[in-house]
Amino acid sequence: MTTHAFQAEVKEVLGLVINSLYSNKSIFLRELISNASDALDKLRFRAVTEPELLATESALEIRLRPDAAAKTLTLEDTGIGMTQDELVKNLGTIAHSGSREFLQRLADAKAQGPTLIGQFGVGFYSAFLVADRVEVVSRAAGQTQAFRWASDAKDGSFTVEAAELPFRGTRITLHLKPDQEELLQPWKLKELVRTYSDFVGHPITLEGEKSERLNQASALWQRPKSDITQALAEEFYKNLSHDFEAPAGWTHFKTEGAQAFAGLLFVPKQVPWDFDRHTTARGLRLYVKRVLVLEHCEELLPPWLRFVRGVIDSEDLPLNVSRELLQDSSLVRGIKTKVVKKVLELLERLAKDEPEAYLGFWKAFGRVLKEGLSHGERDHRDELGRLFRAASTHGDGLTSLAEYRARMKEGQGAIYYAYGESQTVLQGSPHLEALKAKGYEVLLLTDPVDEWAAKGLEKFDGMPLTSVTQADLGLDGKKDEAKAAPDDGALKPLLDKMREVLKEKVKEVRVSERLTDSPVCLVVPTGGTPAYLEQLMRERGVQGYAGGKRILEVNPTHAVVQRLEAARTKEPDSERVRAWIELLFDQAVITEGGRPADPNVFARRVTDLLSAALGAP
Ligand code: ADP
Ligand code: MG
Repeated sequence: MTTHAFQAEVKEVLGLVINSLYSNKSIFLRELISNASDALDKLRFRAVTEPELLATESALEIRLRPDAAAKTLTLEDTGIGMTQDELVKNLGTIAHSGSREFLQRLADAKAQGPTLIGQFGVGFYSAFLVADRVEVVSRAAGQTQAFRWASDAKDGSFTVEAAELPFRGTRITLHLKPDQEELLQPWKLKELVRTYSDFVGHPITLEGEKSERLNQASALWQRPKSDITQALAEEFYKNLSHDFEAPAGWTHFKTEGAQAFAGLLFVPKQVPWDFDRHTTARGLRLYVKRVLVLEHCEELLPPWLRFVRGVIDSEDLPLNVSRELLQDSSLVRGIKTKVVKKVLELLERLAKDEPEAYLGFWKAFGRVLKEGLSHGERDHRDELGRLFRAASTHGDGLTSLAEYRARMKEGQGAIYYAYGESQTVLQGSPHLEALKAKGYEVLLLTDPVDEWAAKGLEKFDGMPLTSVTQADLGLDGKKDEAKAAPDDGALKPLLDKMREVLKEKVKEVRVSERLTDSPVCLVVPTGGTPAYLEQLMRERGVQGYAGGKRILEVNPTHAVVQRLEAARTKEPDSERVRAWIELLFDQAVITEGGRPADPNVFARRVTDLLSAALGAP
């Protein structure tokens, strides 16, 4: 017999579990049944290439055996089993542990209670919620020798030794805590299985004087639609995802004919704690004719639906699917197309029937969904346009594009959006002035992916999406080509001066039709690089990227502009006029979310102005 110490993280988890006052301790049963079901799935998959594994011991089942005299509850499965090494590794360490995030999360869980346990993938240790001693005897498929793992968790160690097991698979014996003896009652076990594990695709029997079957034991997704109740689907989802909340929505489908497959798909309510850290493998569970062949099949989902969880069961794929085949199979592409369609339908239904729940989903995963617009995918623009939500000048909260469309003013020819750091900054942006004056609503986009998404959408319901920084706002419903550029008018000498001073910095200087309160702003020439792209290029340090030149628009009615022209008339070649022009330009750069080329020079000019305004000492 050898004694092993639990990995430090396991000790933490055990500490959390043993002393837990958590009321819903019975979740241990679904965790252990889920492990048993996984073990049976794995065996069935291995038997595809090693049929002899099933030749001698063909039963694939899960058995519960309460023993009132010994005060033990035993769970048996005839699954893949564990070798001696696997017992030590699987039941002594945590697969994704070691990271700082994990430990942090654990600390949070301590505060919140072990509802969070499942999400760590540490389901086995939940046995210690109800037992003060746990024994696991396991005989791995294809082996003759079994081994016993045992621990009472308290001193942070477990033992492993050779043992006997009359069948292939695993037997877990729970020595129940005194307050858990209810778990010896057949009715209690039946109730728990019905509540938590009814969807399990393997038979679960209760062993006693006579054996009693507790579940249907058919794969949930293969059952008729009417049999898949909300409660069943929820439990199935929780089991699959380790989420402790119900999903935001789910969908079930079966296709017949040339390509036959079934699917059960879920959209979570909340972002899993490690979603952005990629520690949890993504993708759908892939079954072929009820045999689980891949736990996480990413090939069935586009990246922008990577939050979707669920199961696909194909009748046509070969059981020995390889990654190469998955990446290059028309069957897989067909399934993926269907999955995308079904998920988008599910989301549209949610948006329509449960707008509150949909907003919750959008806040959690909208940023991911929007990637579907920005990655050159053109196929789902209509659906994604209907699913899009954004803040706007219309009021608090988020609006849909359809709602925006319905509020559009007579003669308004576009859906306008502004992109910037925050809503407050955007609200004050000079670019919005003319639109506000006309009473036009503007979407306020602040998520880095938003502007890509708006560009990707291009149009909604026939209306172009137009950035407020675009040179041609189409305010009068006409396109630039169709109308003459505004005349320089009386401002011509000043504009010429500005053109000269700023010739290295701007493409053009012109009179503005959009400004009411600000003296100047920068706009992007038609076909020019938008600000967000420039920002991105600079952040990424794209070599040799100089940035596209902007058009400087000048507000002819603004007092500053008019006095600048007066100053220029008086002293046409003065340094001061040059400096003020540069200052106005830098100011326009700042309101656009950029920074002056030389912040020191900018600051000095502002200081000079302040000194003049305050009067020299
Ligand atoms: P998870 O199921 O998320 O991997 P668990 O803590 O529930 O985490 O289980 C840890 C590991 O122990 C499993 O991944 C599996 O390899 C192994 N295991 C647990 N129960 C069994 C079982 N009944 N048969 C075979 N292996 C098992
Ligand atoms: Mg588990």
